[in-house]
Amino acid sequence: MSGLACHYKRFEAGRQNALALLEKYKERHGENSKKYKKAKSAIDVYGTPGEKNGVKILGSATLEYSGTTSVSPVRSKKTDANPTGQDIEITINAETFVSEDLVYTILHEGSHAADGAKWVASGFSDSANPTWFQTEFDAFMLGLDVAAANGETVAWFKIEQTEEDKQNPLTLWLPWRKVDLTSETDMERGVKHYLKWDKTYKLTPENKKKAF
Ligand SMILES: [Zn+2]
Repeated sequence: MSGLACHYKRFEAGRQNALALLEKYKERHGENSKKYKKAKSAIDVYGTPGEKNGVKILGSATLEYSGTTSVSPVRSKKTDANPTGQDIEITINAETFVSEDLVYTILHEGSHAADGAKWVASGFSDSANPTWFQTEFDAFMLGLDVAAANGETVAWFKIEQTEEDKQNPLTLWLPWRKVDLTSETDMERGVKHYLKWDKTYKLTPENKKKAF
């Protein structure tokens, strides 16, 4: 993990917060559960401060979203700290660094980065490259599920509408989607609804565009 010095401390505090939230997640699902292992990989992928594991954290004042992850389709040099030669860049919005949501952005982008790390480890195999829908679905579900394990009961998704949506009586009422965090079914429905309607995504399970 390496990154801009000015955001370094905040990021590390966020990573420690994410680790603390993960403890409750472990209690809820069990240390050997698939869910916990996947969640843990979303934090482990960052490595520890100073570790040259091929994961870079950048800050951006112009990024439109809270975060974004890109994975190079070419290996960099393999080393002891980076045995697969992964080259993963996680960019976090400058405003997110000072927001309470940083911990959830760390989990969300970590989920993408962990998917990317697996893809690199597979030798860039097509079957290890999830669909864009799947990697987003998993990343959003992780955030909701971790919040639920830490006692939150409700979350809200703000839907960014297109100009076209604003003209459409069917989608006029869509801007916010409330999610009941006590119901896994509602969490899944909420994430699917958000991915389908938010202008950044417009994704359904049928969309086969790949993540990386
Ligand atoms: Zn995402």
